[in-house]
Amino acid sequence: MSRVFLASRNSKKIEEMQRILREHAPDLDVLGIDDVEHYDEPVEDQATFEGNALLKARAGFAATGLPSLADDSGLCVDALNGMPGVLSARWSGTSLGPKKGQDDRNNELLLQQLSDVPDERRGAHFACAVAFVHAGGEEVVEGRMSGRVIRELRGSGGFGYDVLFVADEHAAEGLTSAELAPTEKDRISHRGRALREIAPRVAKVVVG
Ligand code: IMP
Repeated sequence: MSRVFLASRNSKKIEEMQRILREHAPDLDVLGIDDVEHYDEPVEDQATFEGNALLKARAGFAATGLPSLADDSGLCVDALNGMPGVLSARWSGTSLGPKKGQDDRNNELLLQQLSDVPDERRGAHFACAVAFVHAGGEEVVEGRMSGRVIRELRGSGGFGYDVLFVADEHAAEGLTSAELAPTEKDRISHRGRALREIAPRVAKVVVG
């Protein structure tokens, strides 16, 4: 069994990565941070998705010696000059309440900030950088999902800002990313695109 490390504690991300990688390397096992003893997670202090993804993948490789992947993602809103960007996860701050309500607070704040922005200037995109670090070198790919920020919250699937984002692919029906089937979101999402691009290269390094 070949193994690759994904610097994440998110079991959904680990499963998604394993699903995509196994299309290229059926025997591949993806390990996450919880499979490693005493893992020191680096502070994500870089200015770009690419920088943070590389930082995390390098730390993963240093800690495990396994070929290592890491991702970093967020929502970039045109009317906010690309913010929240790398600050997406904690856009409303971390001191206002429990982690559980963080997505709701982020969404409320973003809607307030954009309340006076007219429909024609509500463009945004999700971006995801995936870094791969191994003994032979390192590389980063980036995937995007473009669309618009709507004026209310809709849908119960997904996570984060999915409830206020309508991707271009679903503009006609006005479905938010939180109203899409998971397989459809994977098909068009920033993360799905980046993972599918890097998967064959990972398979080549890990399996040969
Ligand atoms: P991370 O890369 O998992 O740390 O995600 C950063 C933050 O970006 C998340 O906490 C969400 O707020 C936002 N985000 C990233 N990807 C998505 C997505 O697919 N849907 C909704 N929000 C997302």
